[in-house]
Amino acid sequence: MRGNSRSSKNKNNLKDIHKADIPDPYFEKRLRLMNRLKDELNLSERVYKAMLKVPRHLFVPFNYRDDAYADTPLPIGKDQTISAPHMVAIMCELLDLKEGHKVLEVGTGRGYHAAVVAELIGKKGKVITVERIEELARKAREVLESLGYTNVRVVVGDGSKGFEEEAPYDRIFVTASAPDVPKPLIDQLKLGGKIVLPIGNFMQNLVIVEKDEGGEIKKKPWGAVRFVPLVGEYGF
Ligand code: SAM
Repeated sequence: MRGNSRSSKNKNNLKDIHKADIPDPYFEKRLRLMNRLKDELNLSERVYKAMLKVPRHLFVPFNYRDDAYADTPLPIGKDQTISAPHMVAIMCELLDLKEGHKVLEVGTGRGYHAAVVAELIGKKGKVITVERIEELARKAREVLESLGYTNVRVVVGDGSKGFEEEAPYDRIFVTASAPDVPKPLIDQLKLGGKIVLPIGNFMQNLVIVEKDEGGEIKKKPWGAVRFVPLVGEYGF
């Protein structure tokens, strides 16, 4: 009886510790990585600060934590990967994210990229991120909630069809390579909005799709990339 009351007291004490009081053992590594990326990619201050804030090591399986600040994709289970930090940075820059934007991500993985975007759009914005693999979506939801990201909604489903319920979106990005721009994504994009997505099978290109105020669509290639395939109705 006494043992029980003592352990519940300890639990309460732990609950009182604010997350910010717990030292982040990976901060120095994250800082080194971000300083390097800032120079190499000429990153904006906004993207640099957002990525410096998000603890990537919490979005990878436990045994990969020590590798989380190498600039490389890492396995996250179910044959999927977390994108390399430089790719997350480049896509965020291309998306030109503003405070208050409503953003759709197709391909949550474990939720790292969604967390970075959530930092960039702030509490008045919202990220809706769709993942087809339930277990990955559940893990993403858990870590995002534990870090206090109240502006991210994780949905399980076929994101190649977009997510009509929350449309239209200011920005859409896809983190798996598609055969072409899925039509539902174009339809769910606001006038003046932008989509960034990889297109192609073996040879992939990152493409920026812009919808002007008249609804006209323009596509610009950015360069060669390597992503896992988008599967589903508008995927491979
Ligand atoms: N955004 C992730 C990050 O933060 O690192 C990277 C995700 S990983 C490169 C691509 C993800 O897309 C995988 O988790 C895969 O299951 C998912 N995916 C592939 N096709 C999909 C679809 N049609 N709908 C939703 N998710 C899909």
